[in-house]
Amino acid sequence: MSDYDSGDDLLADINIDGLVATSKRARSNDEDDYQQSEQKQVCKRIKVKDNDVHHEARAHQILKDRFGFDDFRHEQRSAIQSILRGENTLVIFPTGAGKSLCYQIPAIAFEQLDAESGDGRPDGSGITIVVSPLIALMKDQVDSLKRKGISAECMDSTKTYEQQQETKRALREGRLRLLYCAPERLNNEGFVESMKYVPGGIRLIAVDEAHCISEWGHSFRPDYLKVARFAEEIKAERVICLTATATPRVADDVCKAFNIKESNVYRTSPYRPNLQLLAESMKTKQDKYPRLFEFLRMYRGSTLVYVTLQKQAEVLADDLQAQGFNAVAFHAGLGSEEKAKIQDEFMASEIPIVVATIAFGMGIDKPDIRNIIHFDLSSTVEEYSQQIGRAGRDGLESHCMFYICPEDFYLRENFARGDLPSRDSLRGLLKEVFNQEVIDIARGEGFKINHYQLSQDYDIRPSPLNILLATLELRFGLFRAVTPEYSSYKYEATNKYGYFTKIEKTRAGRAIFNNAKKAVKLYDIDVTATARDLGMPRNDIVRRLNELNDIGALVLKVSGVQNKYRVLKPLPQTDEEIDDLVDKLYADMESREIDALNRVQQVADLITGSKCFAHALADHFGMGLPDGKTSCGHCTYCLTGKPIVLPPKPHRPVDISGINKILDACDVRDDPRFLARVAFGIKSPRVTRLKLDKIQEFASLEDHDFDSLLKEFTRACDAVAREPNVQREPLVKRESNSARGSATKRGRDAKRGSSSSGHGSYNQRGSYNGRGSYGSFSRGGSYRK
Ligand code: ADP
Ligand code: MG
Repeated sequence: MSDYDSGDDLLADINIDGLVATSKRARSNDEDDYQQSEQKQVCKRIKVKDNDVHHEARAHQILKDRFGFDDFRHEQRSAIQSILRGENTLVIFPTGAGKSLCYQIPAIAFEQLDAESGDGRPDGSGITIVVSPLIALMKDQVDSLKRKGISAECMDSTKTYEQQQETKRALREGRLRLLYCAPERLNNEGFVESMKYVPGGIRLIAVDEAHCISEWGHSFRPDYLKVARFAEEIKAERVICLTATATPRVADDVCKAFNIKESNVYRTSPYRPNLQLLAESMKTKQDKYPRLFEFLRMYRGSTLVYVTLQKQAEVLADDLQAQGFNAVAFHAGLGSEEKAKIQDEFMASEIPIVVATIAFGMGIDKPDIRNIIHFDLSSTVEEYSQQIGRAGRDGLESHCMFYICPEDFYLRENFARGDLPSRDSLRGLLKEVFNQEVIDIARGEGFKINHYQLSQDYDIRPSPLNILLATLELRFGLFRAVTPEYSSYKYEATNKYGYFTKIEKTRAGRAIFNNAKKAVKLYDIDVTATARDLGMPRNDIVRRLNELNDIGALVLKVSGVQNKYRVLKPLPQTDEEIDDLVDKLYADMESREIDALNRVQQVADLITGSKCFAHALADHFGMGLPDGKTSCGHCTYCLTGKPIVLPPKPHRPVDISGINKILDACDVRDDPRFLARVAFGIKSPRVTRLKLDKIQEFASLEDHDFDSLLKEFTRACDAVAREPNVQREPLVKRESNSARGSATKRGRDAKRGSSSSGHGSYNQRGSYNGRGSYGSFSRGGSYRK
């Protein structure tokens, strides 16, 4: 099954504002009560203290008996107490500091504490739900808990039918202590519904990587925004949010979302005295190679070299091998077996050097990583901090080297500039989402959209598209994502199938058995047509299919996910209303782009600033160095007493002939930003569809300033728009390469337009010579792409 369970559209709408207001009200009423009786307050304080002491004893016992550790680390103890007291809590500890225990210990403790306090729950002691973004990490944790005899499961798409059934049974029977799931699952109403009826209730929701909830976080995930709503809906008793990387602004966002008091925020400074934070600047990327080789010869031991691109990981690993190092590449593009093998061999110190993209390291807990090298510019200070945090967990001296040169910024800008669509794209998208058919649907009913198709049609990458839709849902309250629907329902008969077809009494069930058509192995049922022909709700059939799946009559296989939304408010209809929304969303997205660019600059500032690196890093997260110190004494700044100087970016005039070549090669005049992306080498759905990433002009102006490119292409597009005889093509058009020829004239027109706008003078100068920013070092010192 896919990660979404199919389910029914049963849930009543819940207004988030209403919920938040109610919970706030409940809190302030509580406070009034306390004020009424001082006596009560004193009693309560004594009780809380007694309870804390008791809780701590239990927590400590679990720490020893189940996890085999003698003492709590950092603020684990306080965070666990806060949770056991029933209060929402935020934990900000660096990676590897031990955040997981802050929810695992309470999850185990509830049962015993219930029994001891005498207010045990007749139905069971409930469960802890852990929301975590990465399936692999969830699995590791679940396996490790199971080995300790703790009942934990993971709700994810890779589970077999039998495994899913077993998890559901364990939930019903109150045998499960922890249930892990990805945030996307919260869009599944069947899941949300079933969590409302877990025996003993939801004692705790743990939100791992909680910074993802903040739009200001470095990895904002819109589905995370729904966790707070979920917690309210399923009446979770308390929430713990955990992150390694929260700036004060992000921490503030998390606290607001979950009503966390400042006194329940527990932080540990990211400062690690055994890490030497080092950096070097150079003129070009190529200058980095000899420095890297020298470094690796000097500092032996387990080493991670971080790069940005998959390709570059491979090429650099090859280069290192050619230099006699035992190095391998690791990135998300490798097969899962290969990845697991590399990880195992690195863990066992059989491979000393891994050249990796950001994909490596999550969940890697190797104590003796001696060196972390940044061969490229990190996208954020948070990412840098997380990656260096993997070094020296054994407390021994370790080195973190950062190589920086002006070229590094091009690639980073490339990433940062890829998400902002043009206004026309945005307008087109909204017009389609709020088309007449959707508008005509009465409030409270649903509409379906296919994210993939929208992304293709309006040239908006999947990630910003998700953010856009989540913004329309959560900020503007226009609709709510409900359980995604599938366009295809198939099933396999179990050995009990025949029996169930005979005893089936429900109308929906009969409809299924009468209308499903058997192919070779699978039965295929057209749910929509069957429902229409029989005049019954589609949901009845879907629900019954799921029930038949649950009772073992059949094994359901669904595919072709379609996202479904329920309309909550009158939708924008007129051009003015749409434009108004476009303005607001566009402003949002523009500031997100600026944010992304600023975050890269912050990394560079940290490395080139006039401040101790460790101090600057702690400062970024709103903390200082221990004992109010302002220098670590062993970073490059402290050692040299001078800031690293970054050579200036070479300034190049805009290469107009290069611009013209791109205009010749691309049959697009409706979106200057799109053309600038092609010139700069940024992929988008439309770029891929038109196969423009395969032409030689792609990325041919990657060493230019993006805004200058944008200016030139805007001129070219405006020139076409002004020409009365040229018909502009709409954005949504299934373009094909064969259509190019027909529009060559427009290409020429635009070319004329652009050269007539006053740039002929340096038209032919400085023709592009194919700089390869991702080349590699070869023995002769030459540079190959
Ligand atoms: P985080 O989530 O903060 O990155 P983890 O929870 O994965 O860190 O813990 C990292 C490692 O530290 C794990 O191997 C864990 O068992 C260990 N650990 C956690 N708490 C303690 C403790 N109190 N004493 C010793 N080891 C601990
Ligand atoms: Mg963790």
